[in-house]
Amino acid sequence: MSQNHQHTLATHVSSEGVGLHTGAPIRLTLRPADAGAGIVFRRTDVARVVEIPARLSHVVDTRLATMIGRDGVTLSTVEHVLAALWACGVDNAVVDVTGPEVPVMDGSAGPWVELVEQAGLVAQTAARRVARVAAPVEVRDGDKRASVRPGVGLSVACAIDFRHPLITQQQLSLTVDGEVFRKDLAHARTFGFLHEVEMLRKAGLARGGSLENAVVVDRECIMNPEGLRFQDEFVRHKILDALGDLYLLGAPMMGCVELHKAGHALHVALGRAILQQDAVEWILASDLPAPVAARYRPRVKPAQGVALAG
Ligand SMILES: [Zn+2]
Repeated sequence: MSQNHQHTLATHVSSEGVGLHTGAPIRLTLRPADAGAGIVFRRTDVARVVEIPARLSHVVDTRLATMIGRDGVTLSTVEHVLAALWACGVDNAVVDVTGPEVPVMDGSAGPWVELVEQAGLVAQTAARRVARVAAPVEVRDGDKRASVRPGVGLSVACAIDFRHPLITQQQLSLTVDGEVFRKDLAHARTFGFLHEVEMLRKAGLARGGSLENAVVVDRECIMNPEGLRFQDEFVRHKILDALGDLYLLGAPMMGCVELHKAGHALHVALGRAILQQDAVEWILASDLPAPVAARYRPRVKPAQGVALAG
């Protein structure tokens, strides 16, 4: 079965952690799904299980994290697990969650990459689709902007500027595929400023937040005793977030993305503008030149001795 076919998980795998905001223990289970299903989240702790497809049309809030919802049931912080599924080449999966938010784990996508690797992947009968950006699109909000133009493969250039001595004007440009993601982005953690964390706590949020699952920045220092994982961990995490949010297009993307002081709201606005402006062509990975198609192949070894999934 070709690497250009869709892939799903070979078996189901689970992991448990706390929700960043609720502080409650939450279990996440990745399950195989049929070809063409895409990524579908399910809240399994509510009376009637609600399926929420990981699509831009289901995004209901982007203020603290990316939240999706359906029929009045919501699920927050889907971006890190989505980035990991994209990077590992998982086209179809059911993601069961036993609470209102995806567990934060260590604040990065690393634990989700490991979970996918634990399950392994199987090729499916349907061909993999790629969302190729065919025309430039830009969205702005004040001095924040996000744009994309046609390009070969996927690249992201990201600049942040937090007017803070430790996080001034970090910039990074990367040509991204699953391999680069794993090495350079997956382990970059979410971050917050101490005064914001205190405000969130007063509002009853960030109850699960700790130095175990976020980089916390005070006026002039990093409060985490272990320090940073990358000298520019902040901008790397921003790119990780954008890749997770852009997977809400419903297929891996091909184009050159530029982000300037962007965040979840602008990533989602960019994705929606791409669809509204009809700036995307859905092409088969097998129709791409071989070296380009190679960048869209799964980065997880196929599971041993597992039959082809439907
Ligand atoms: Zn994040």
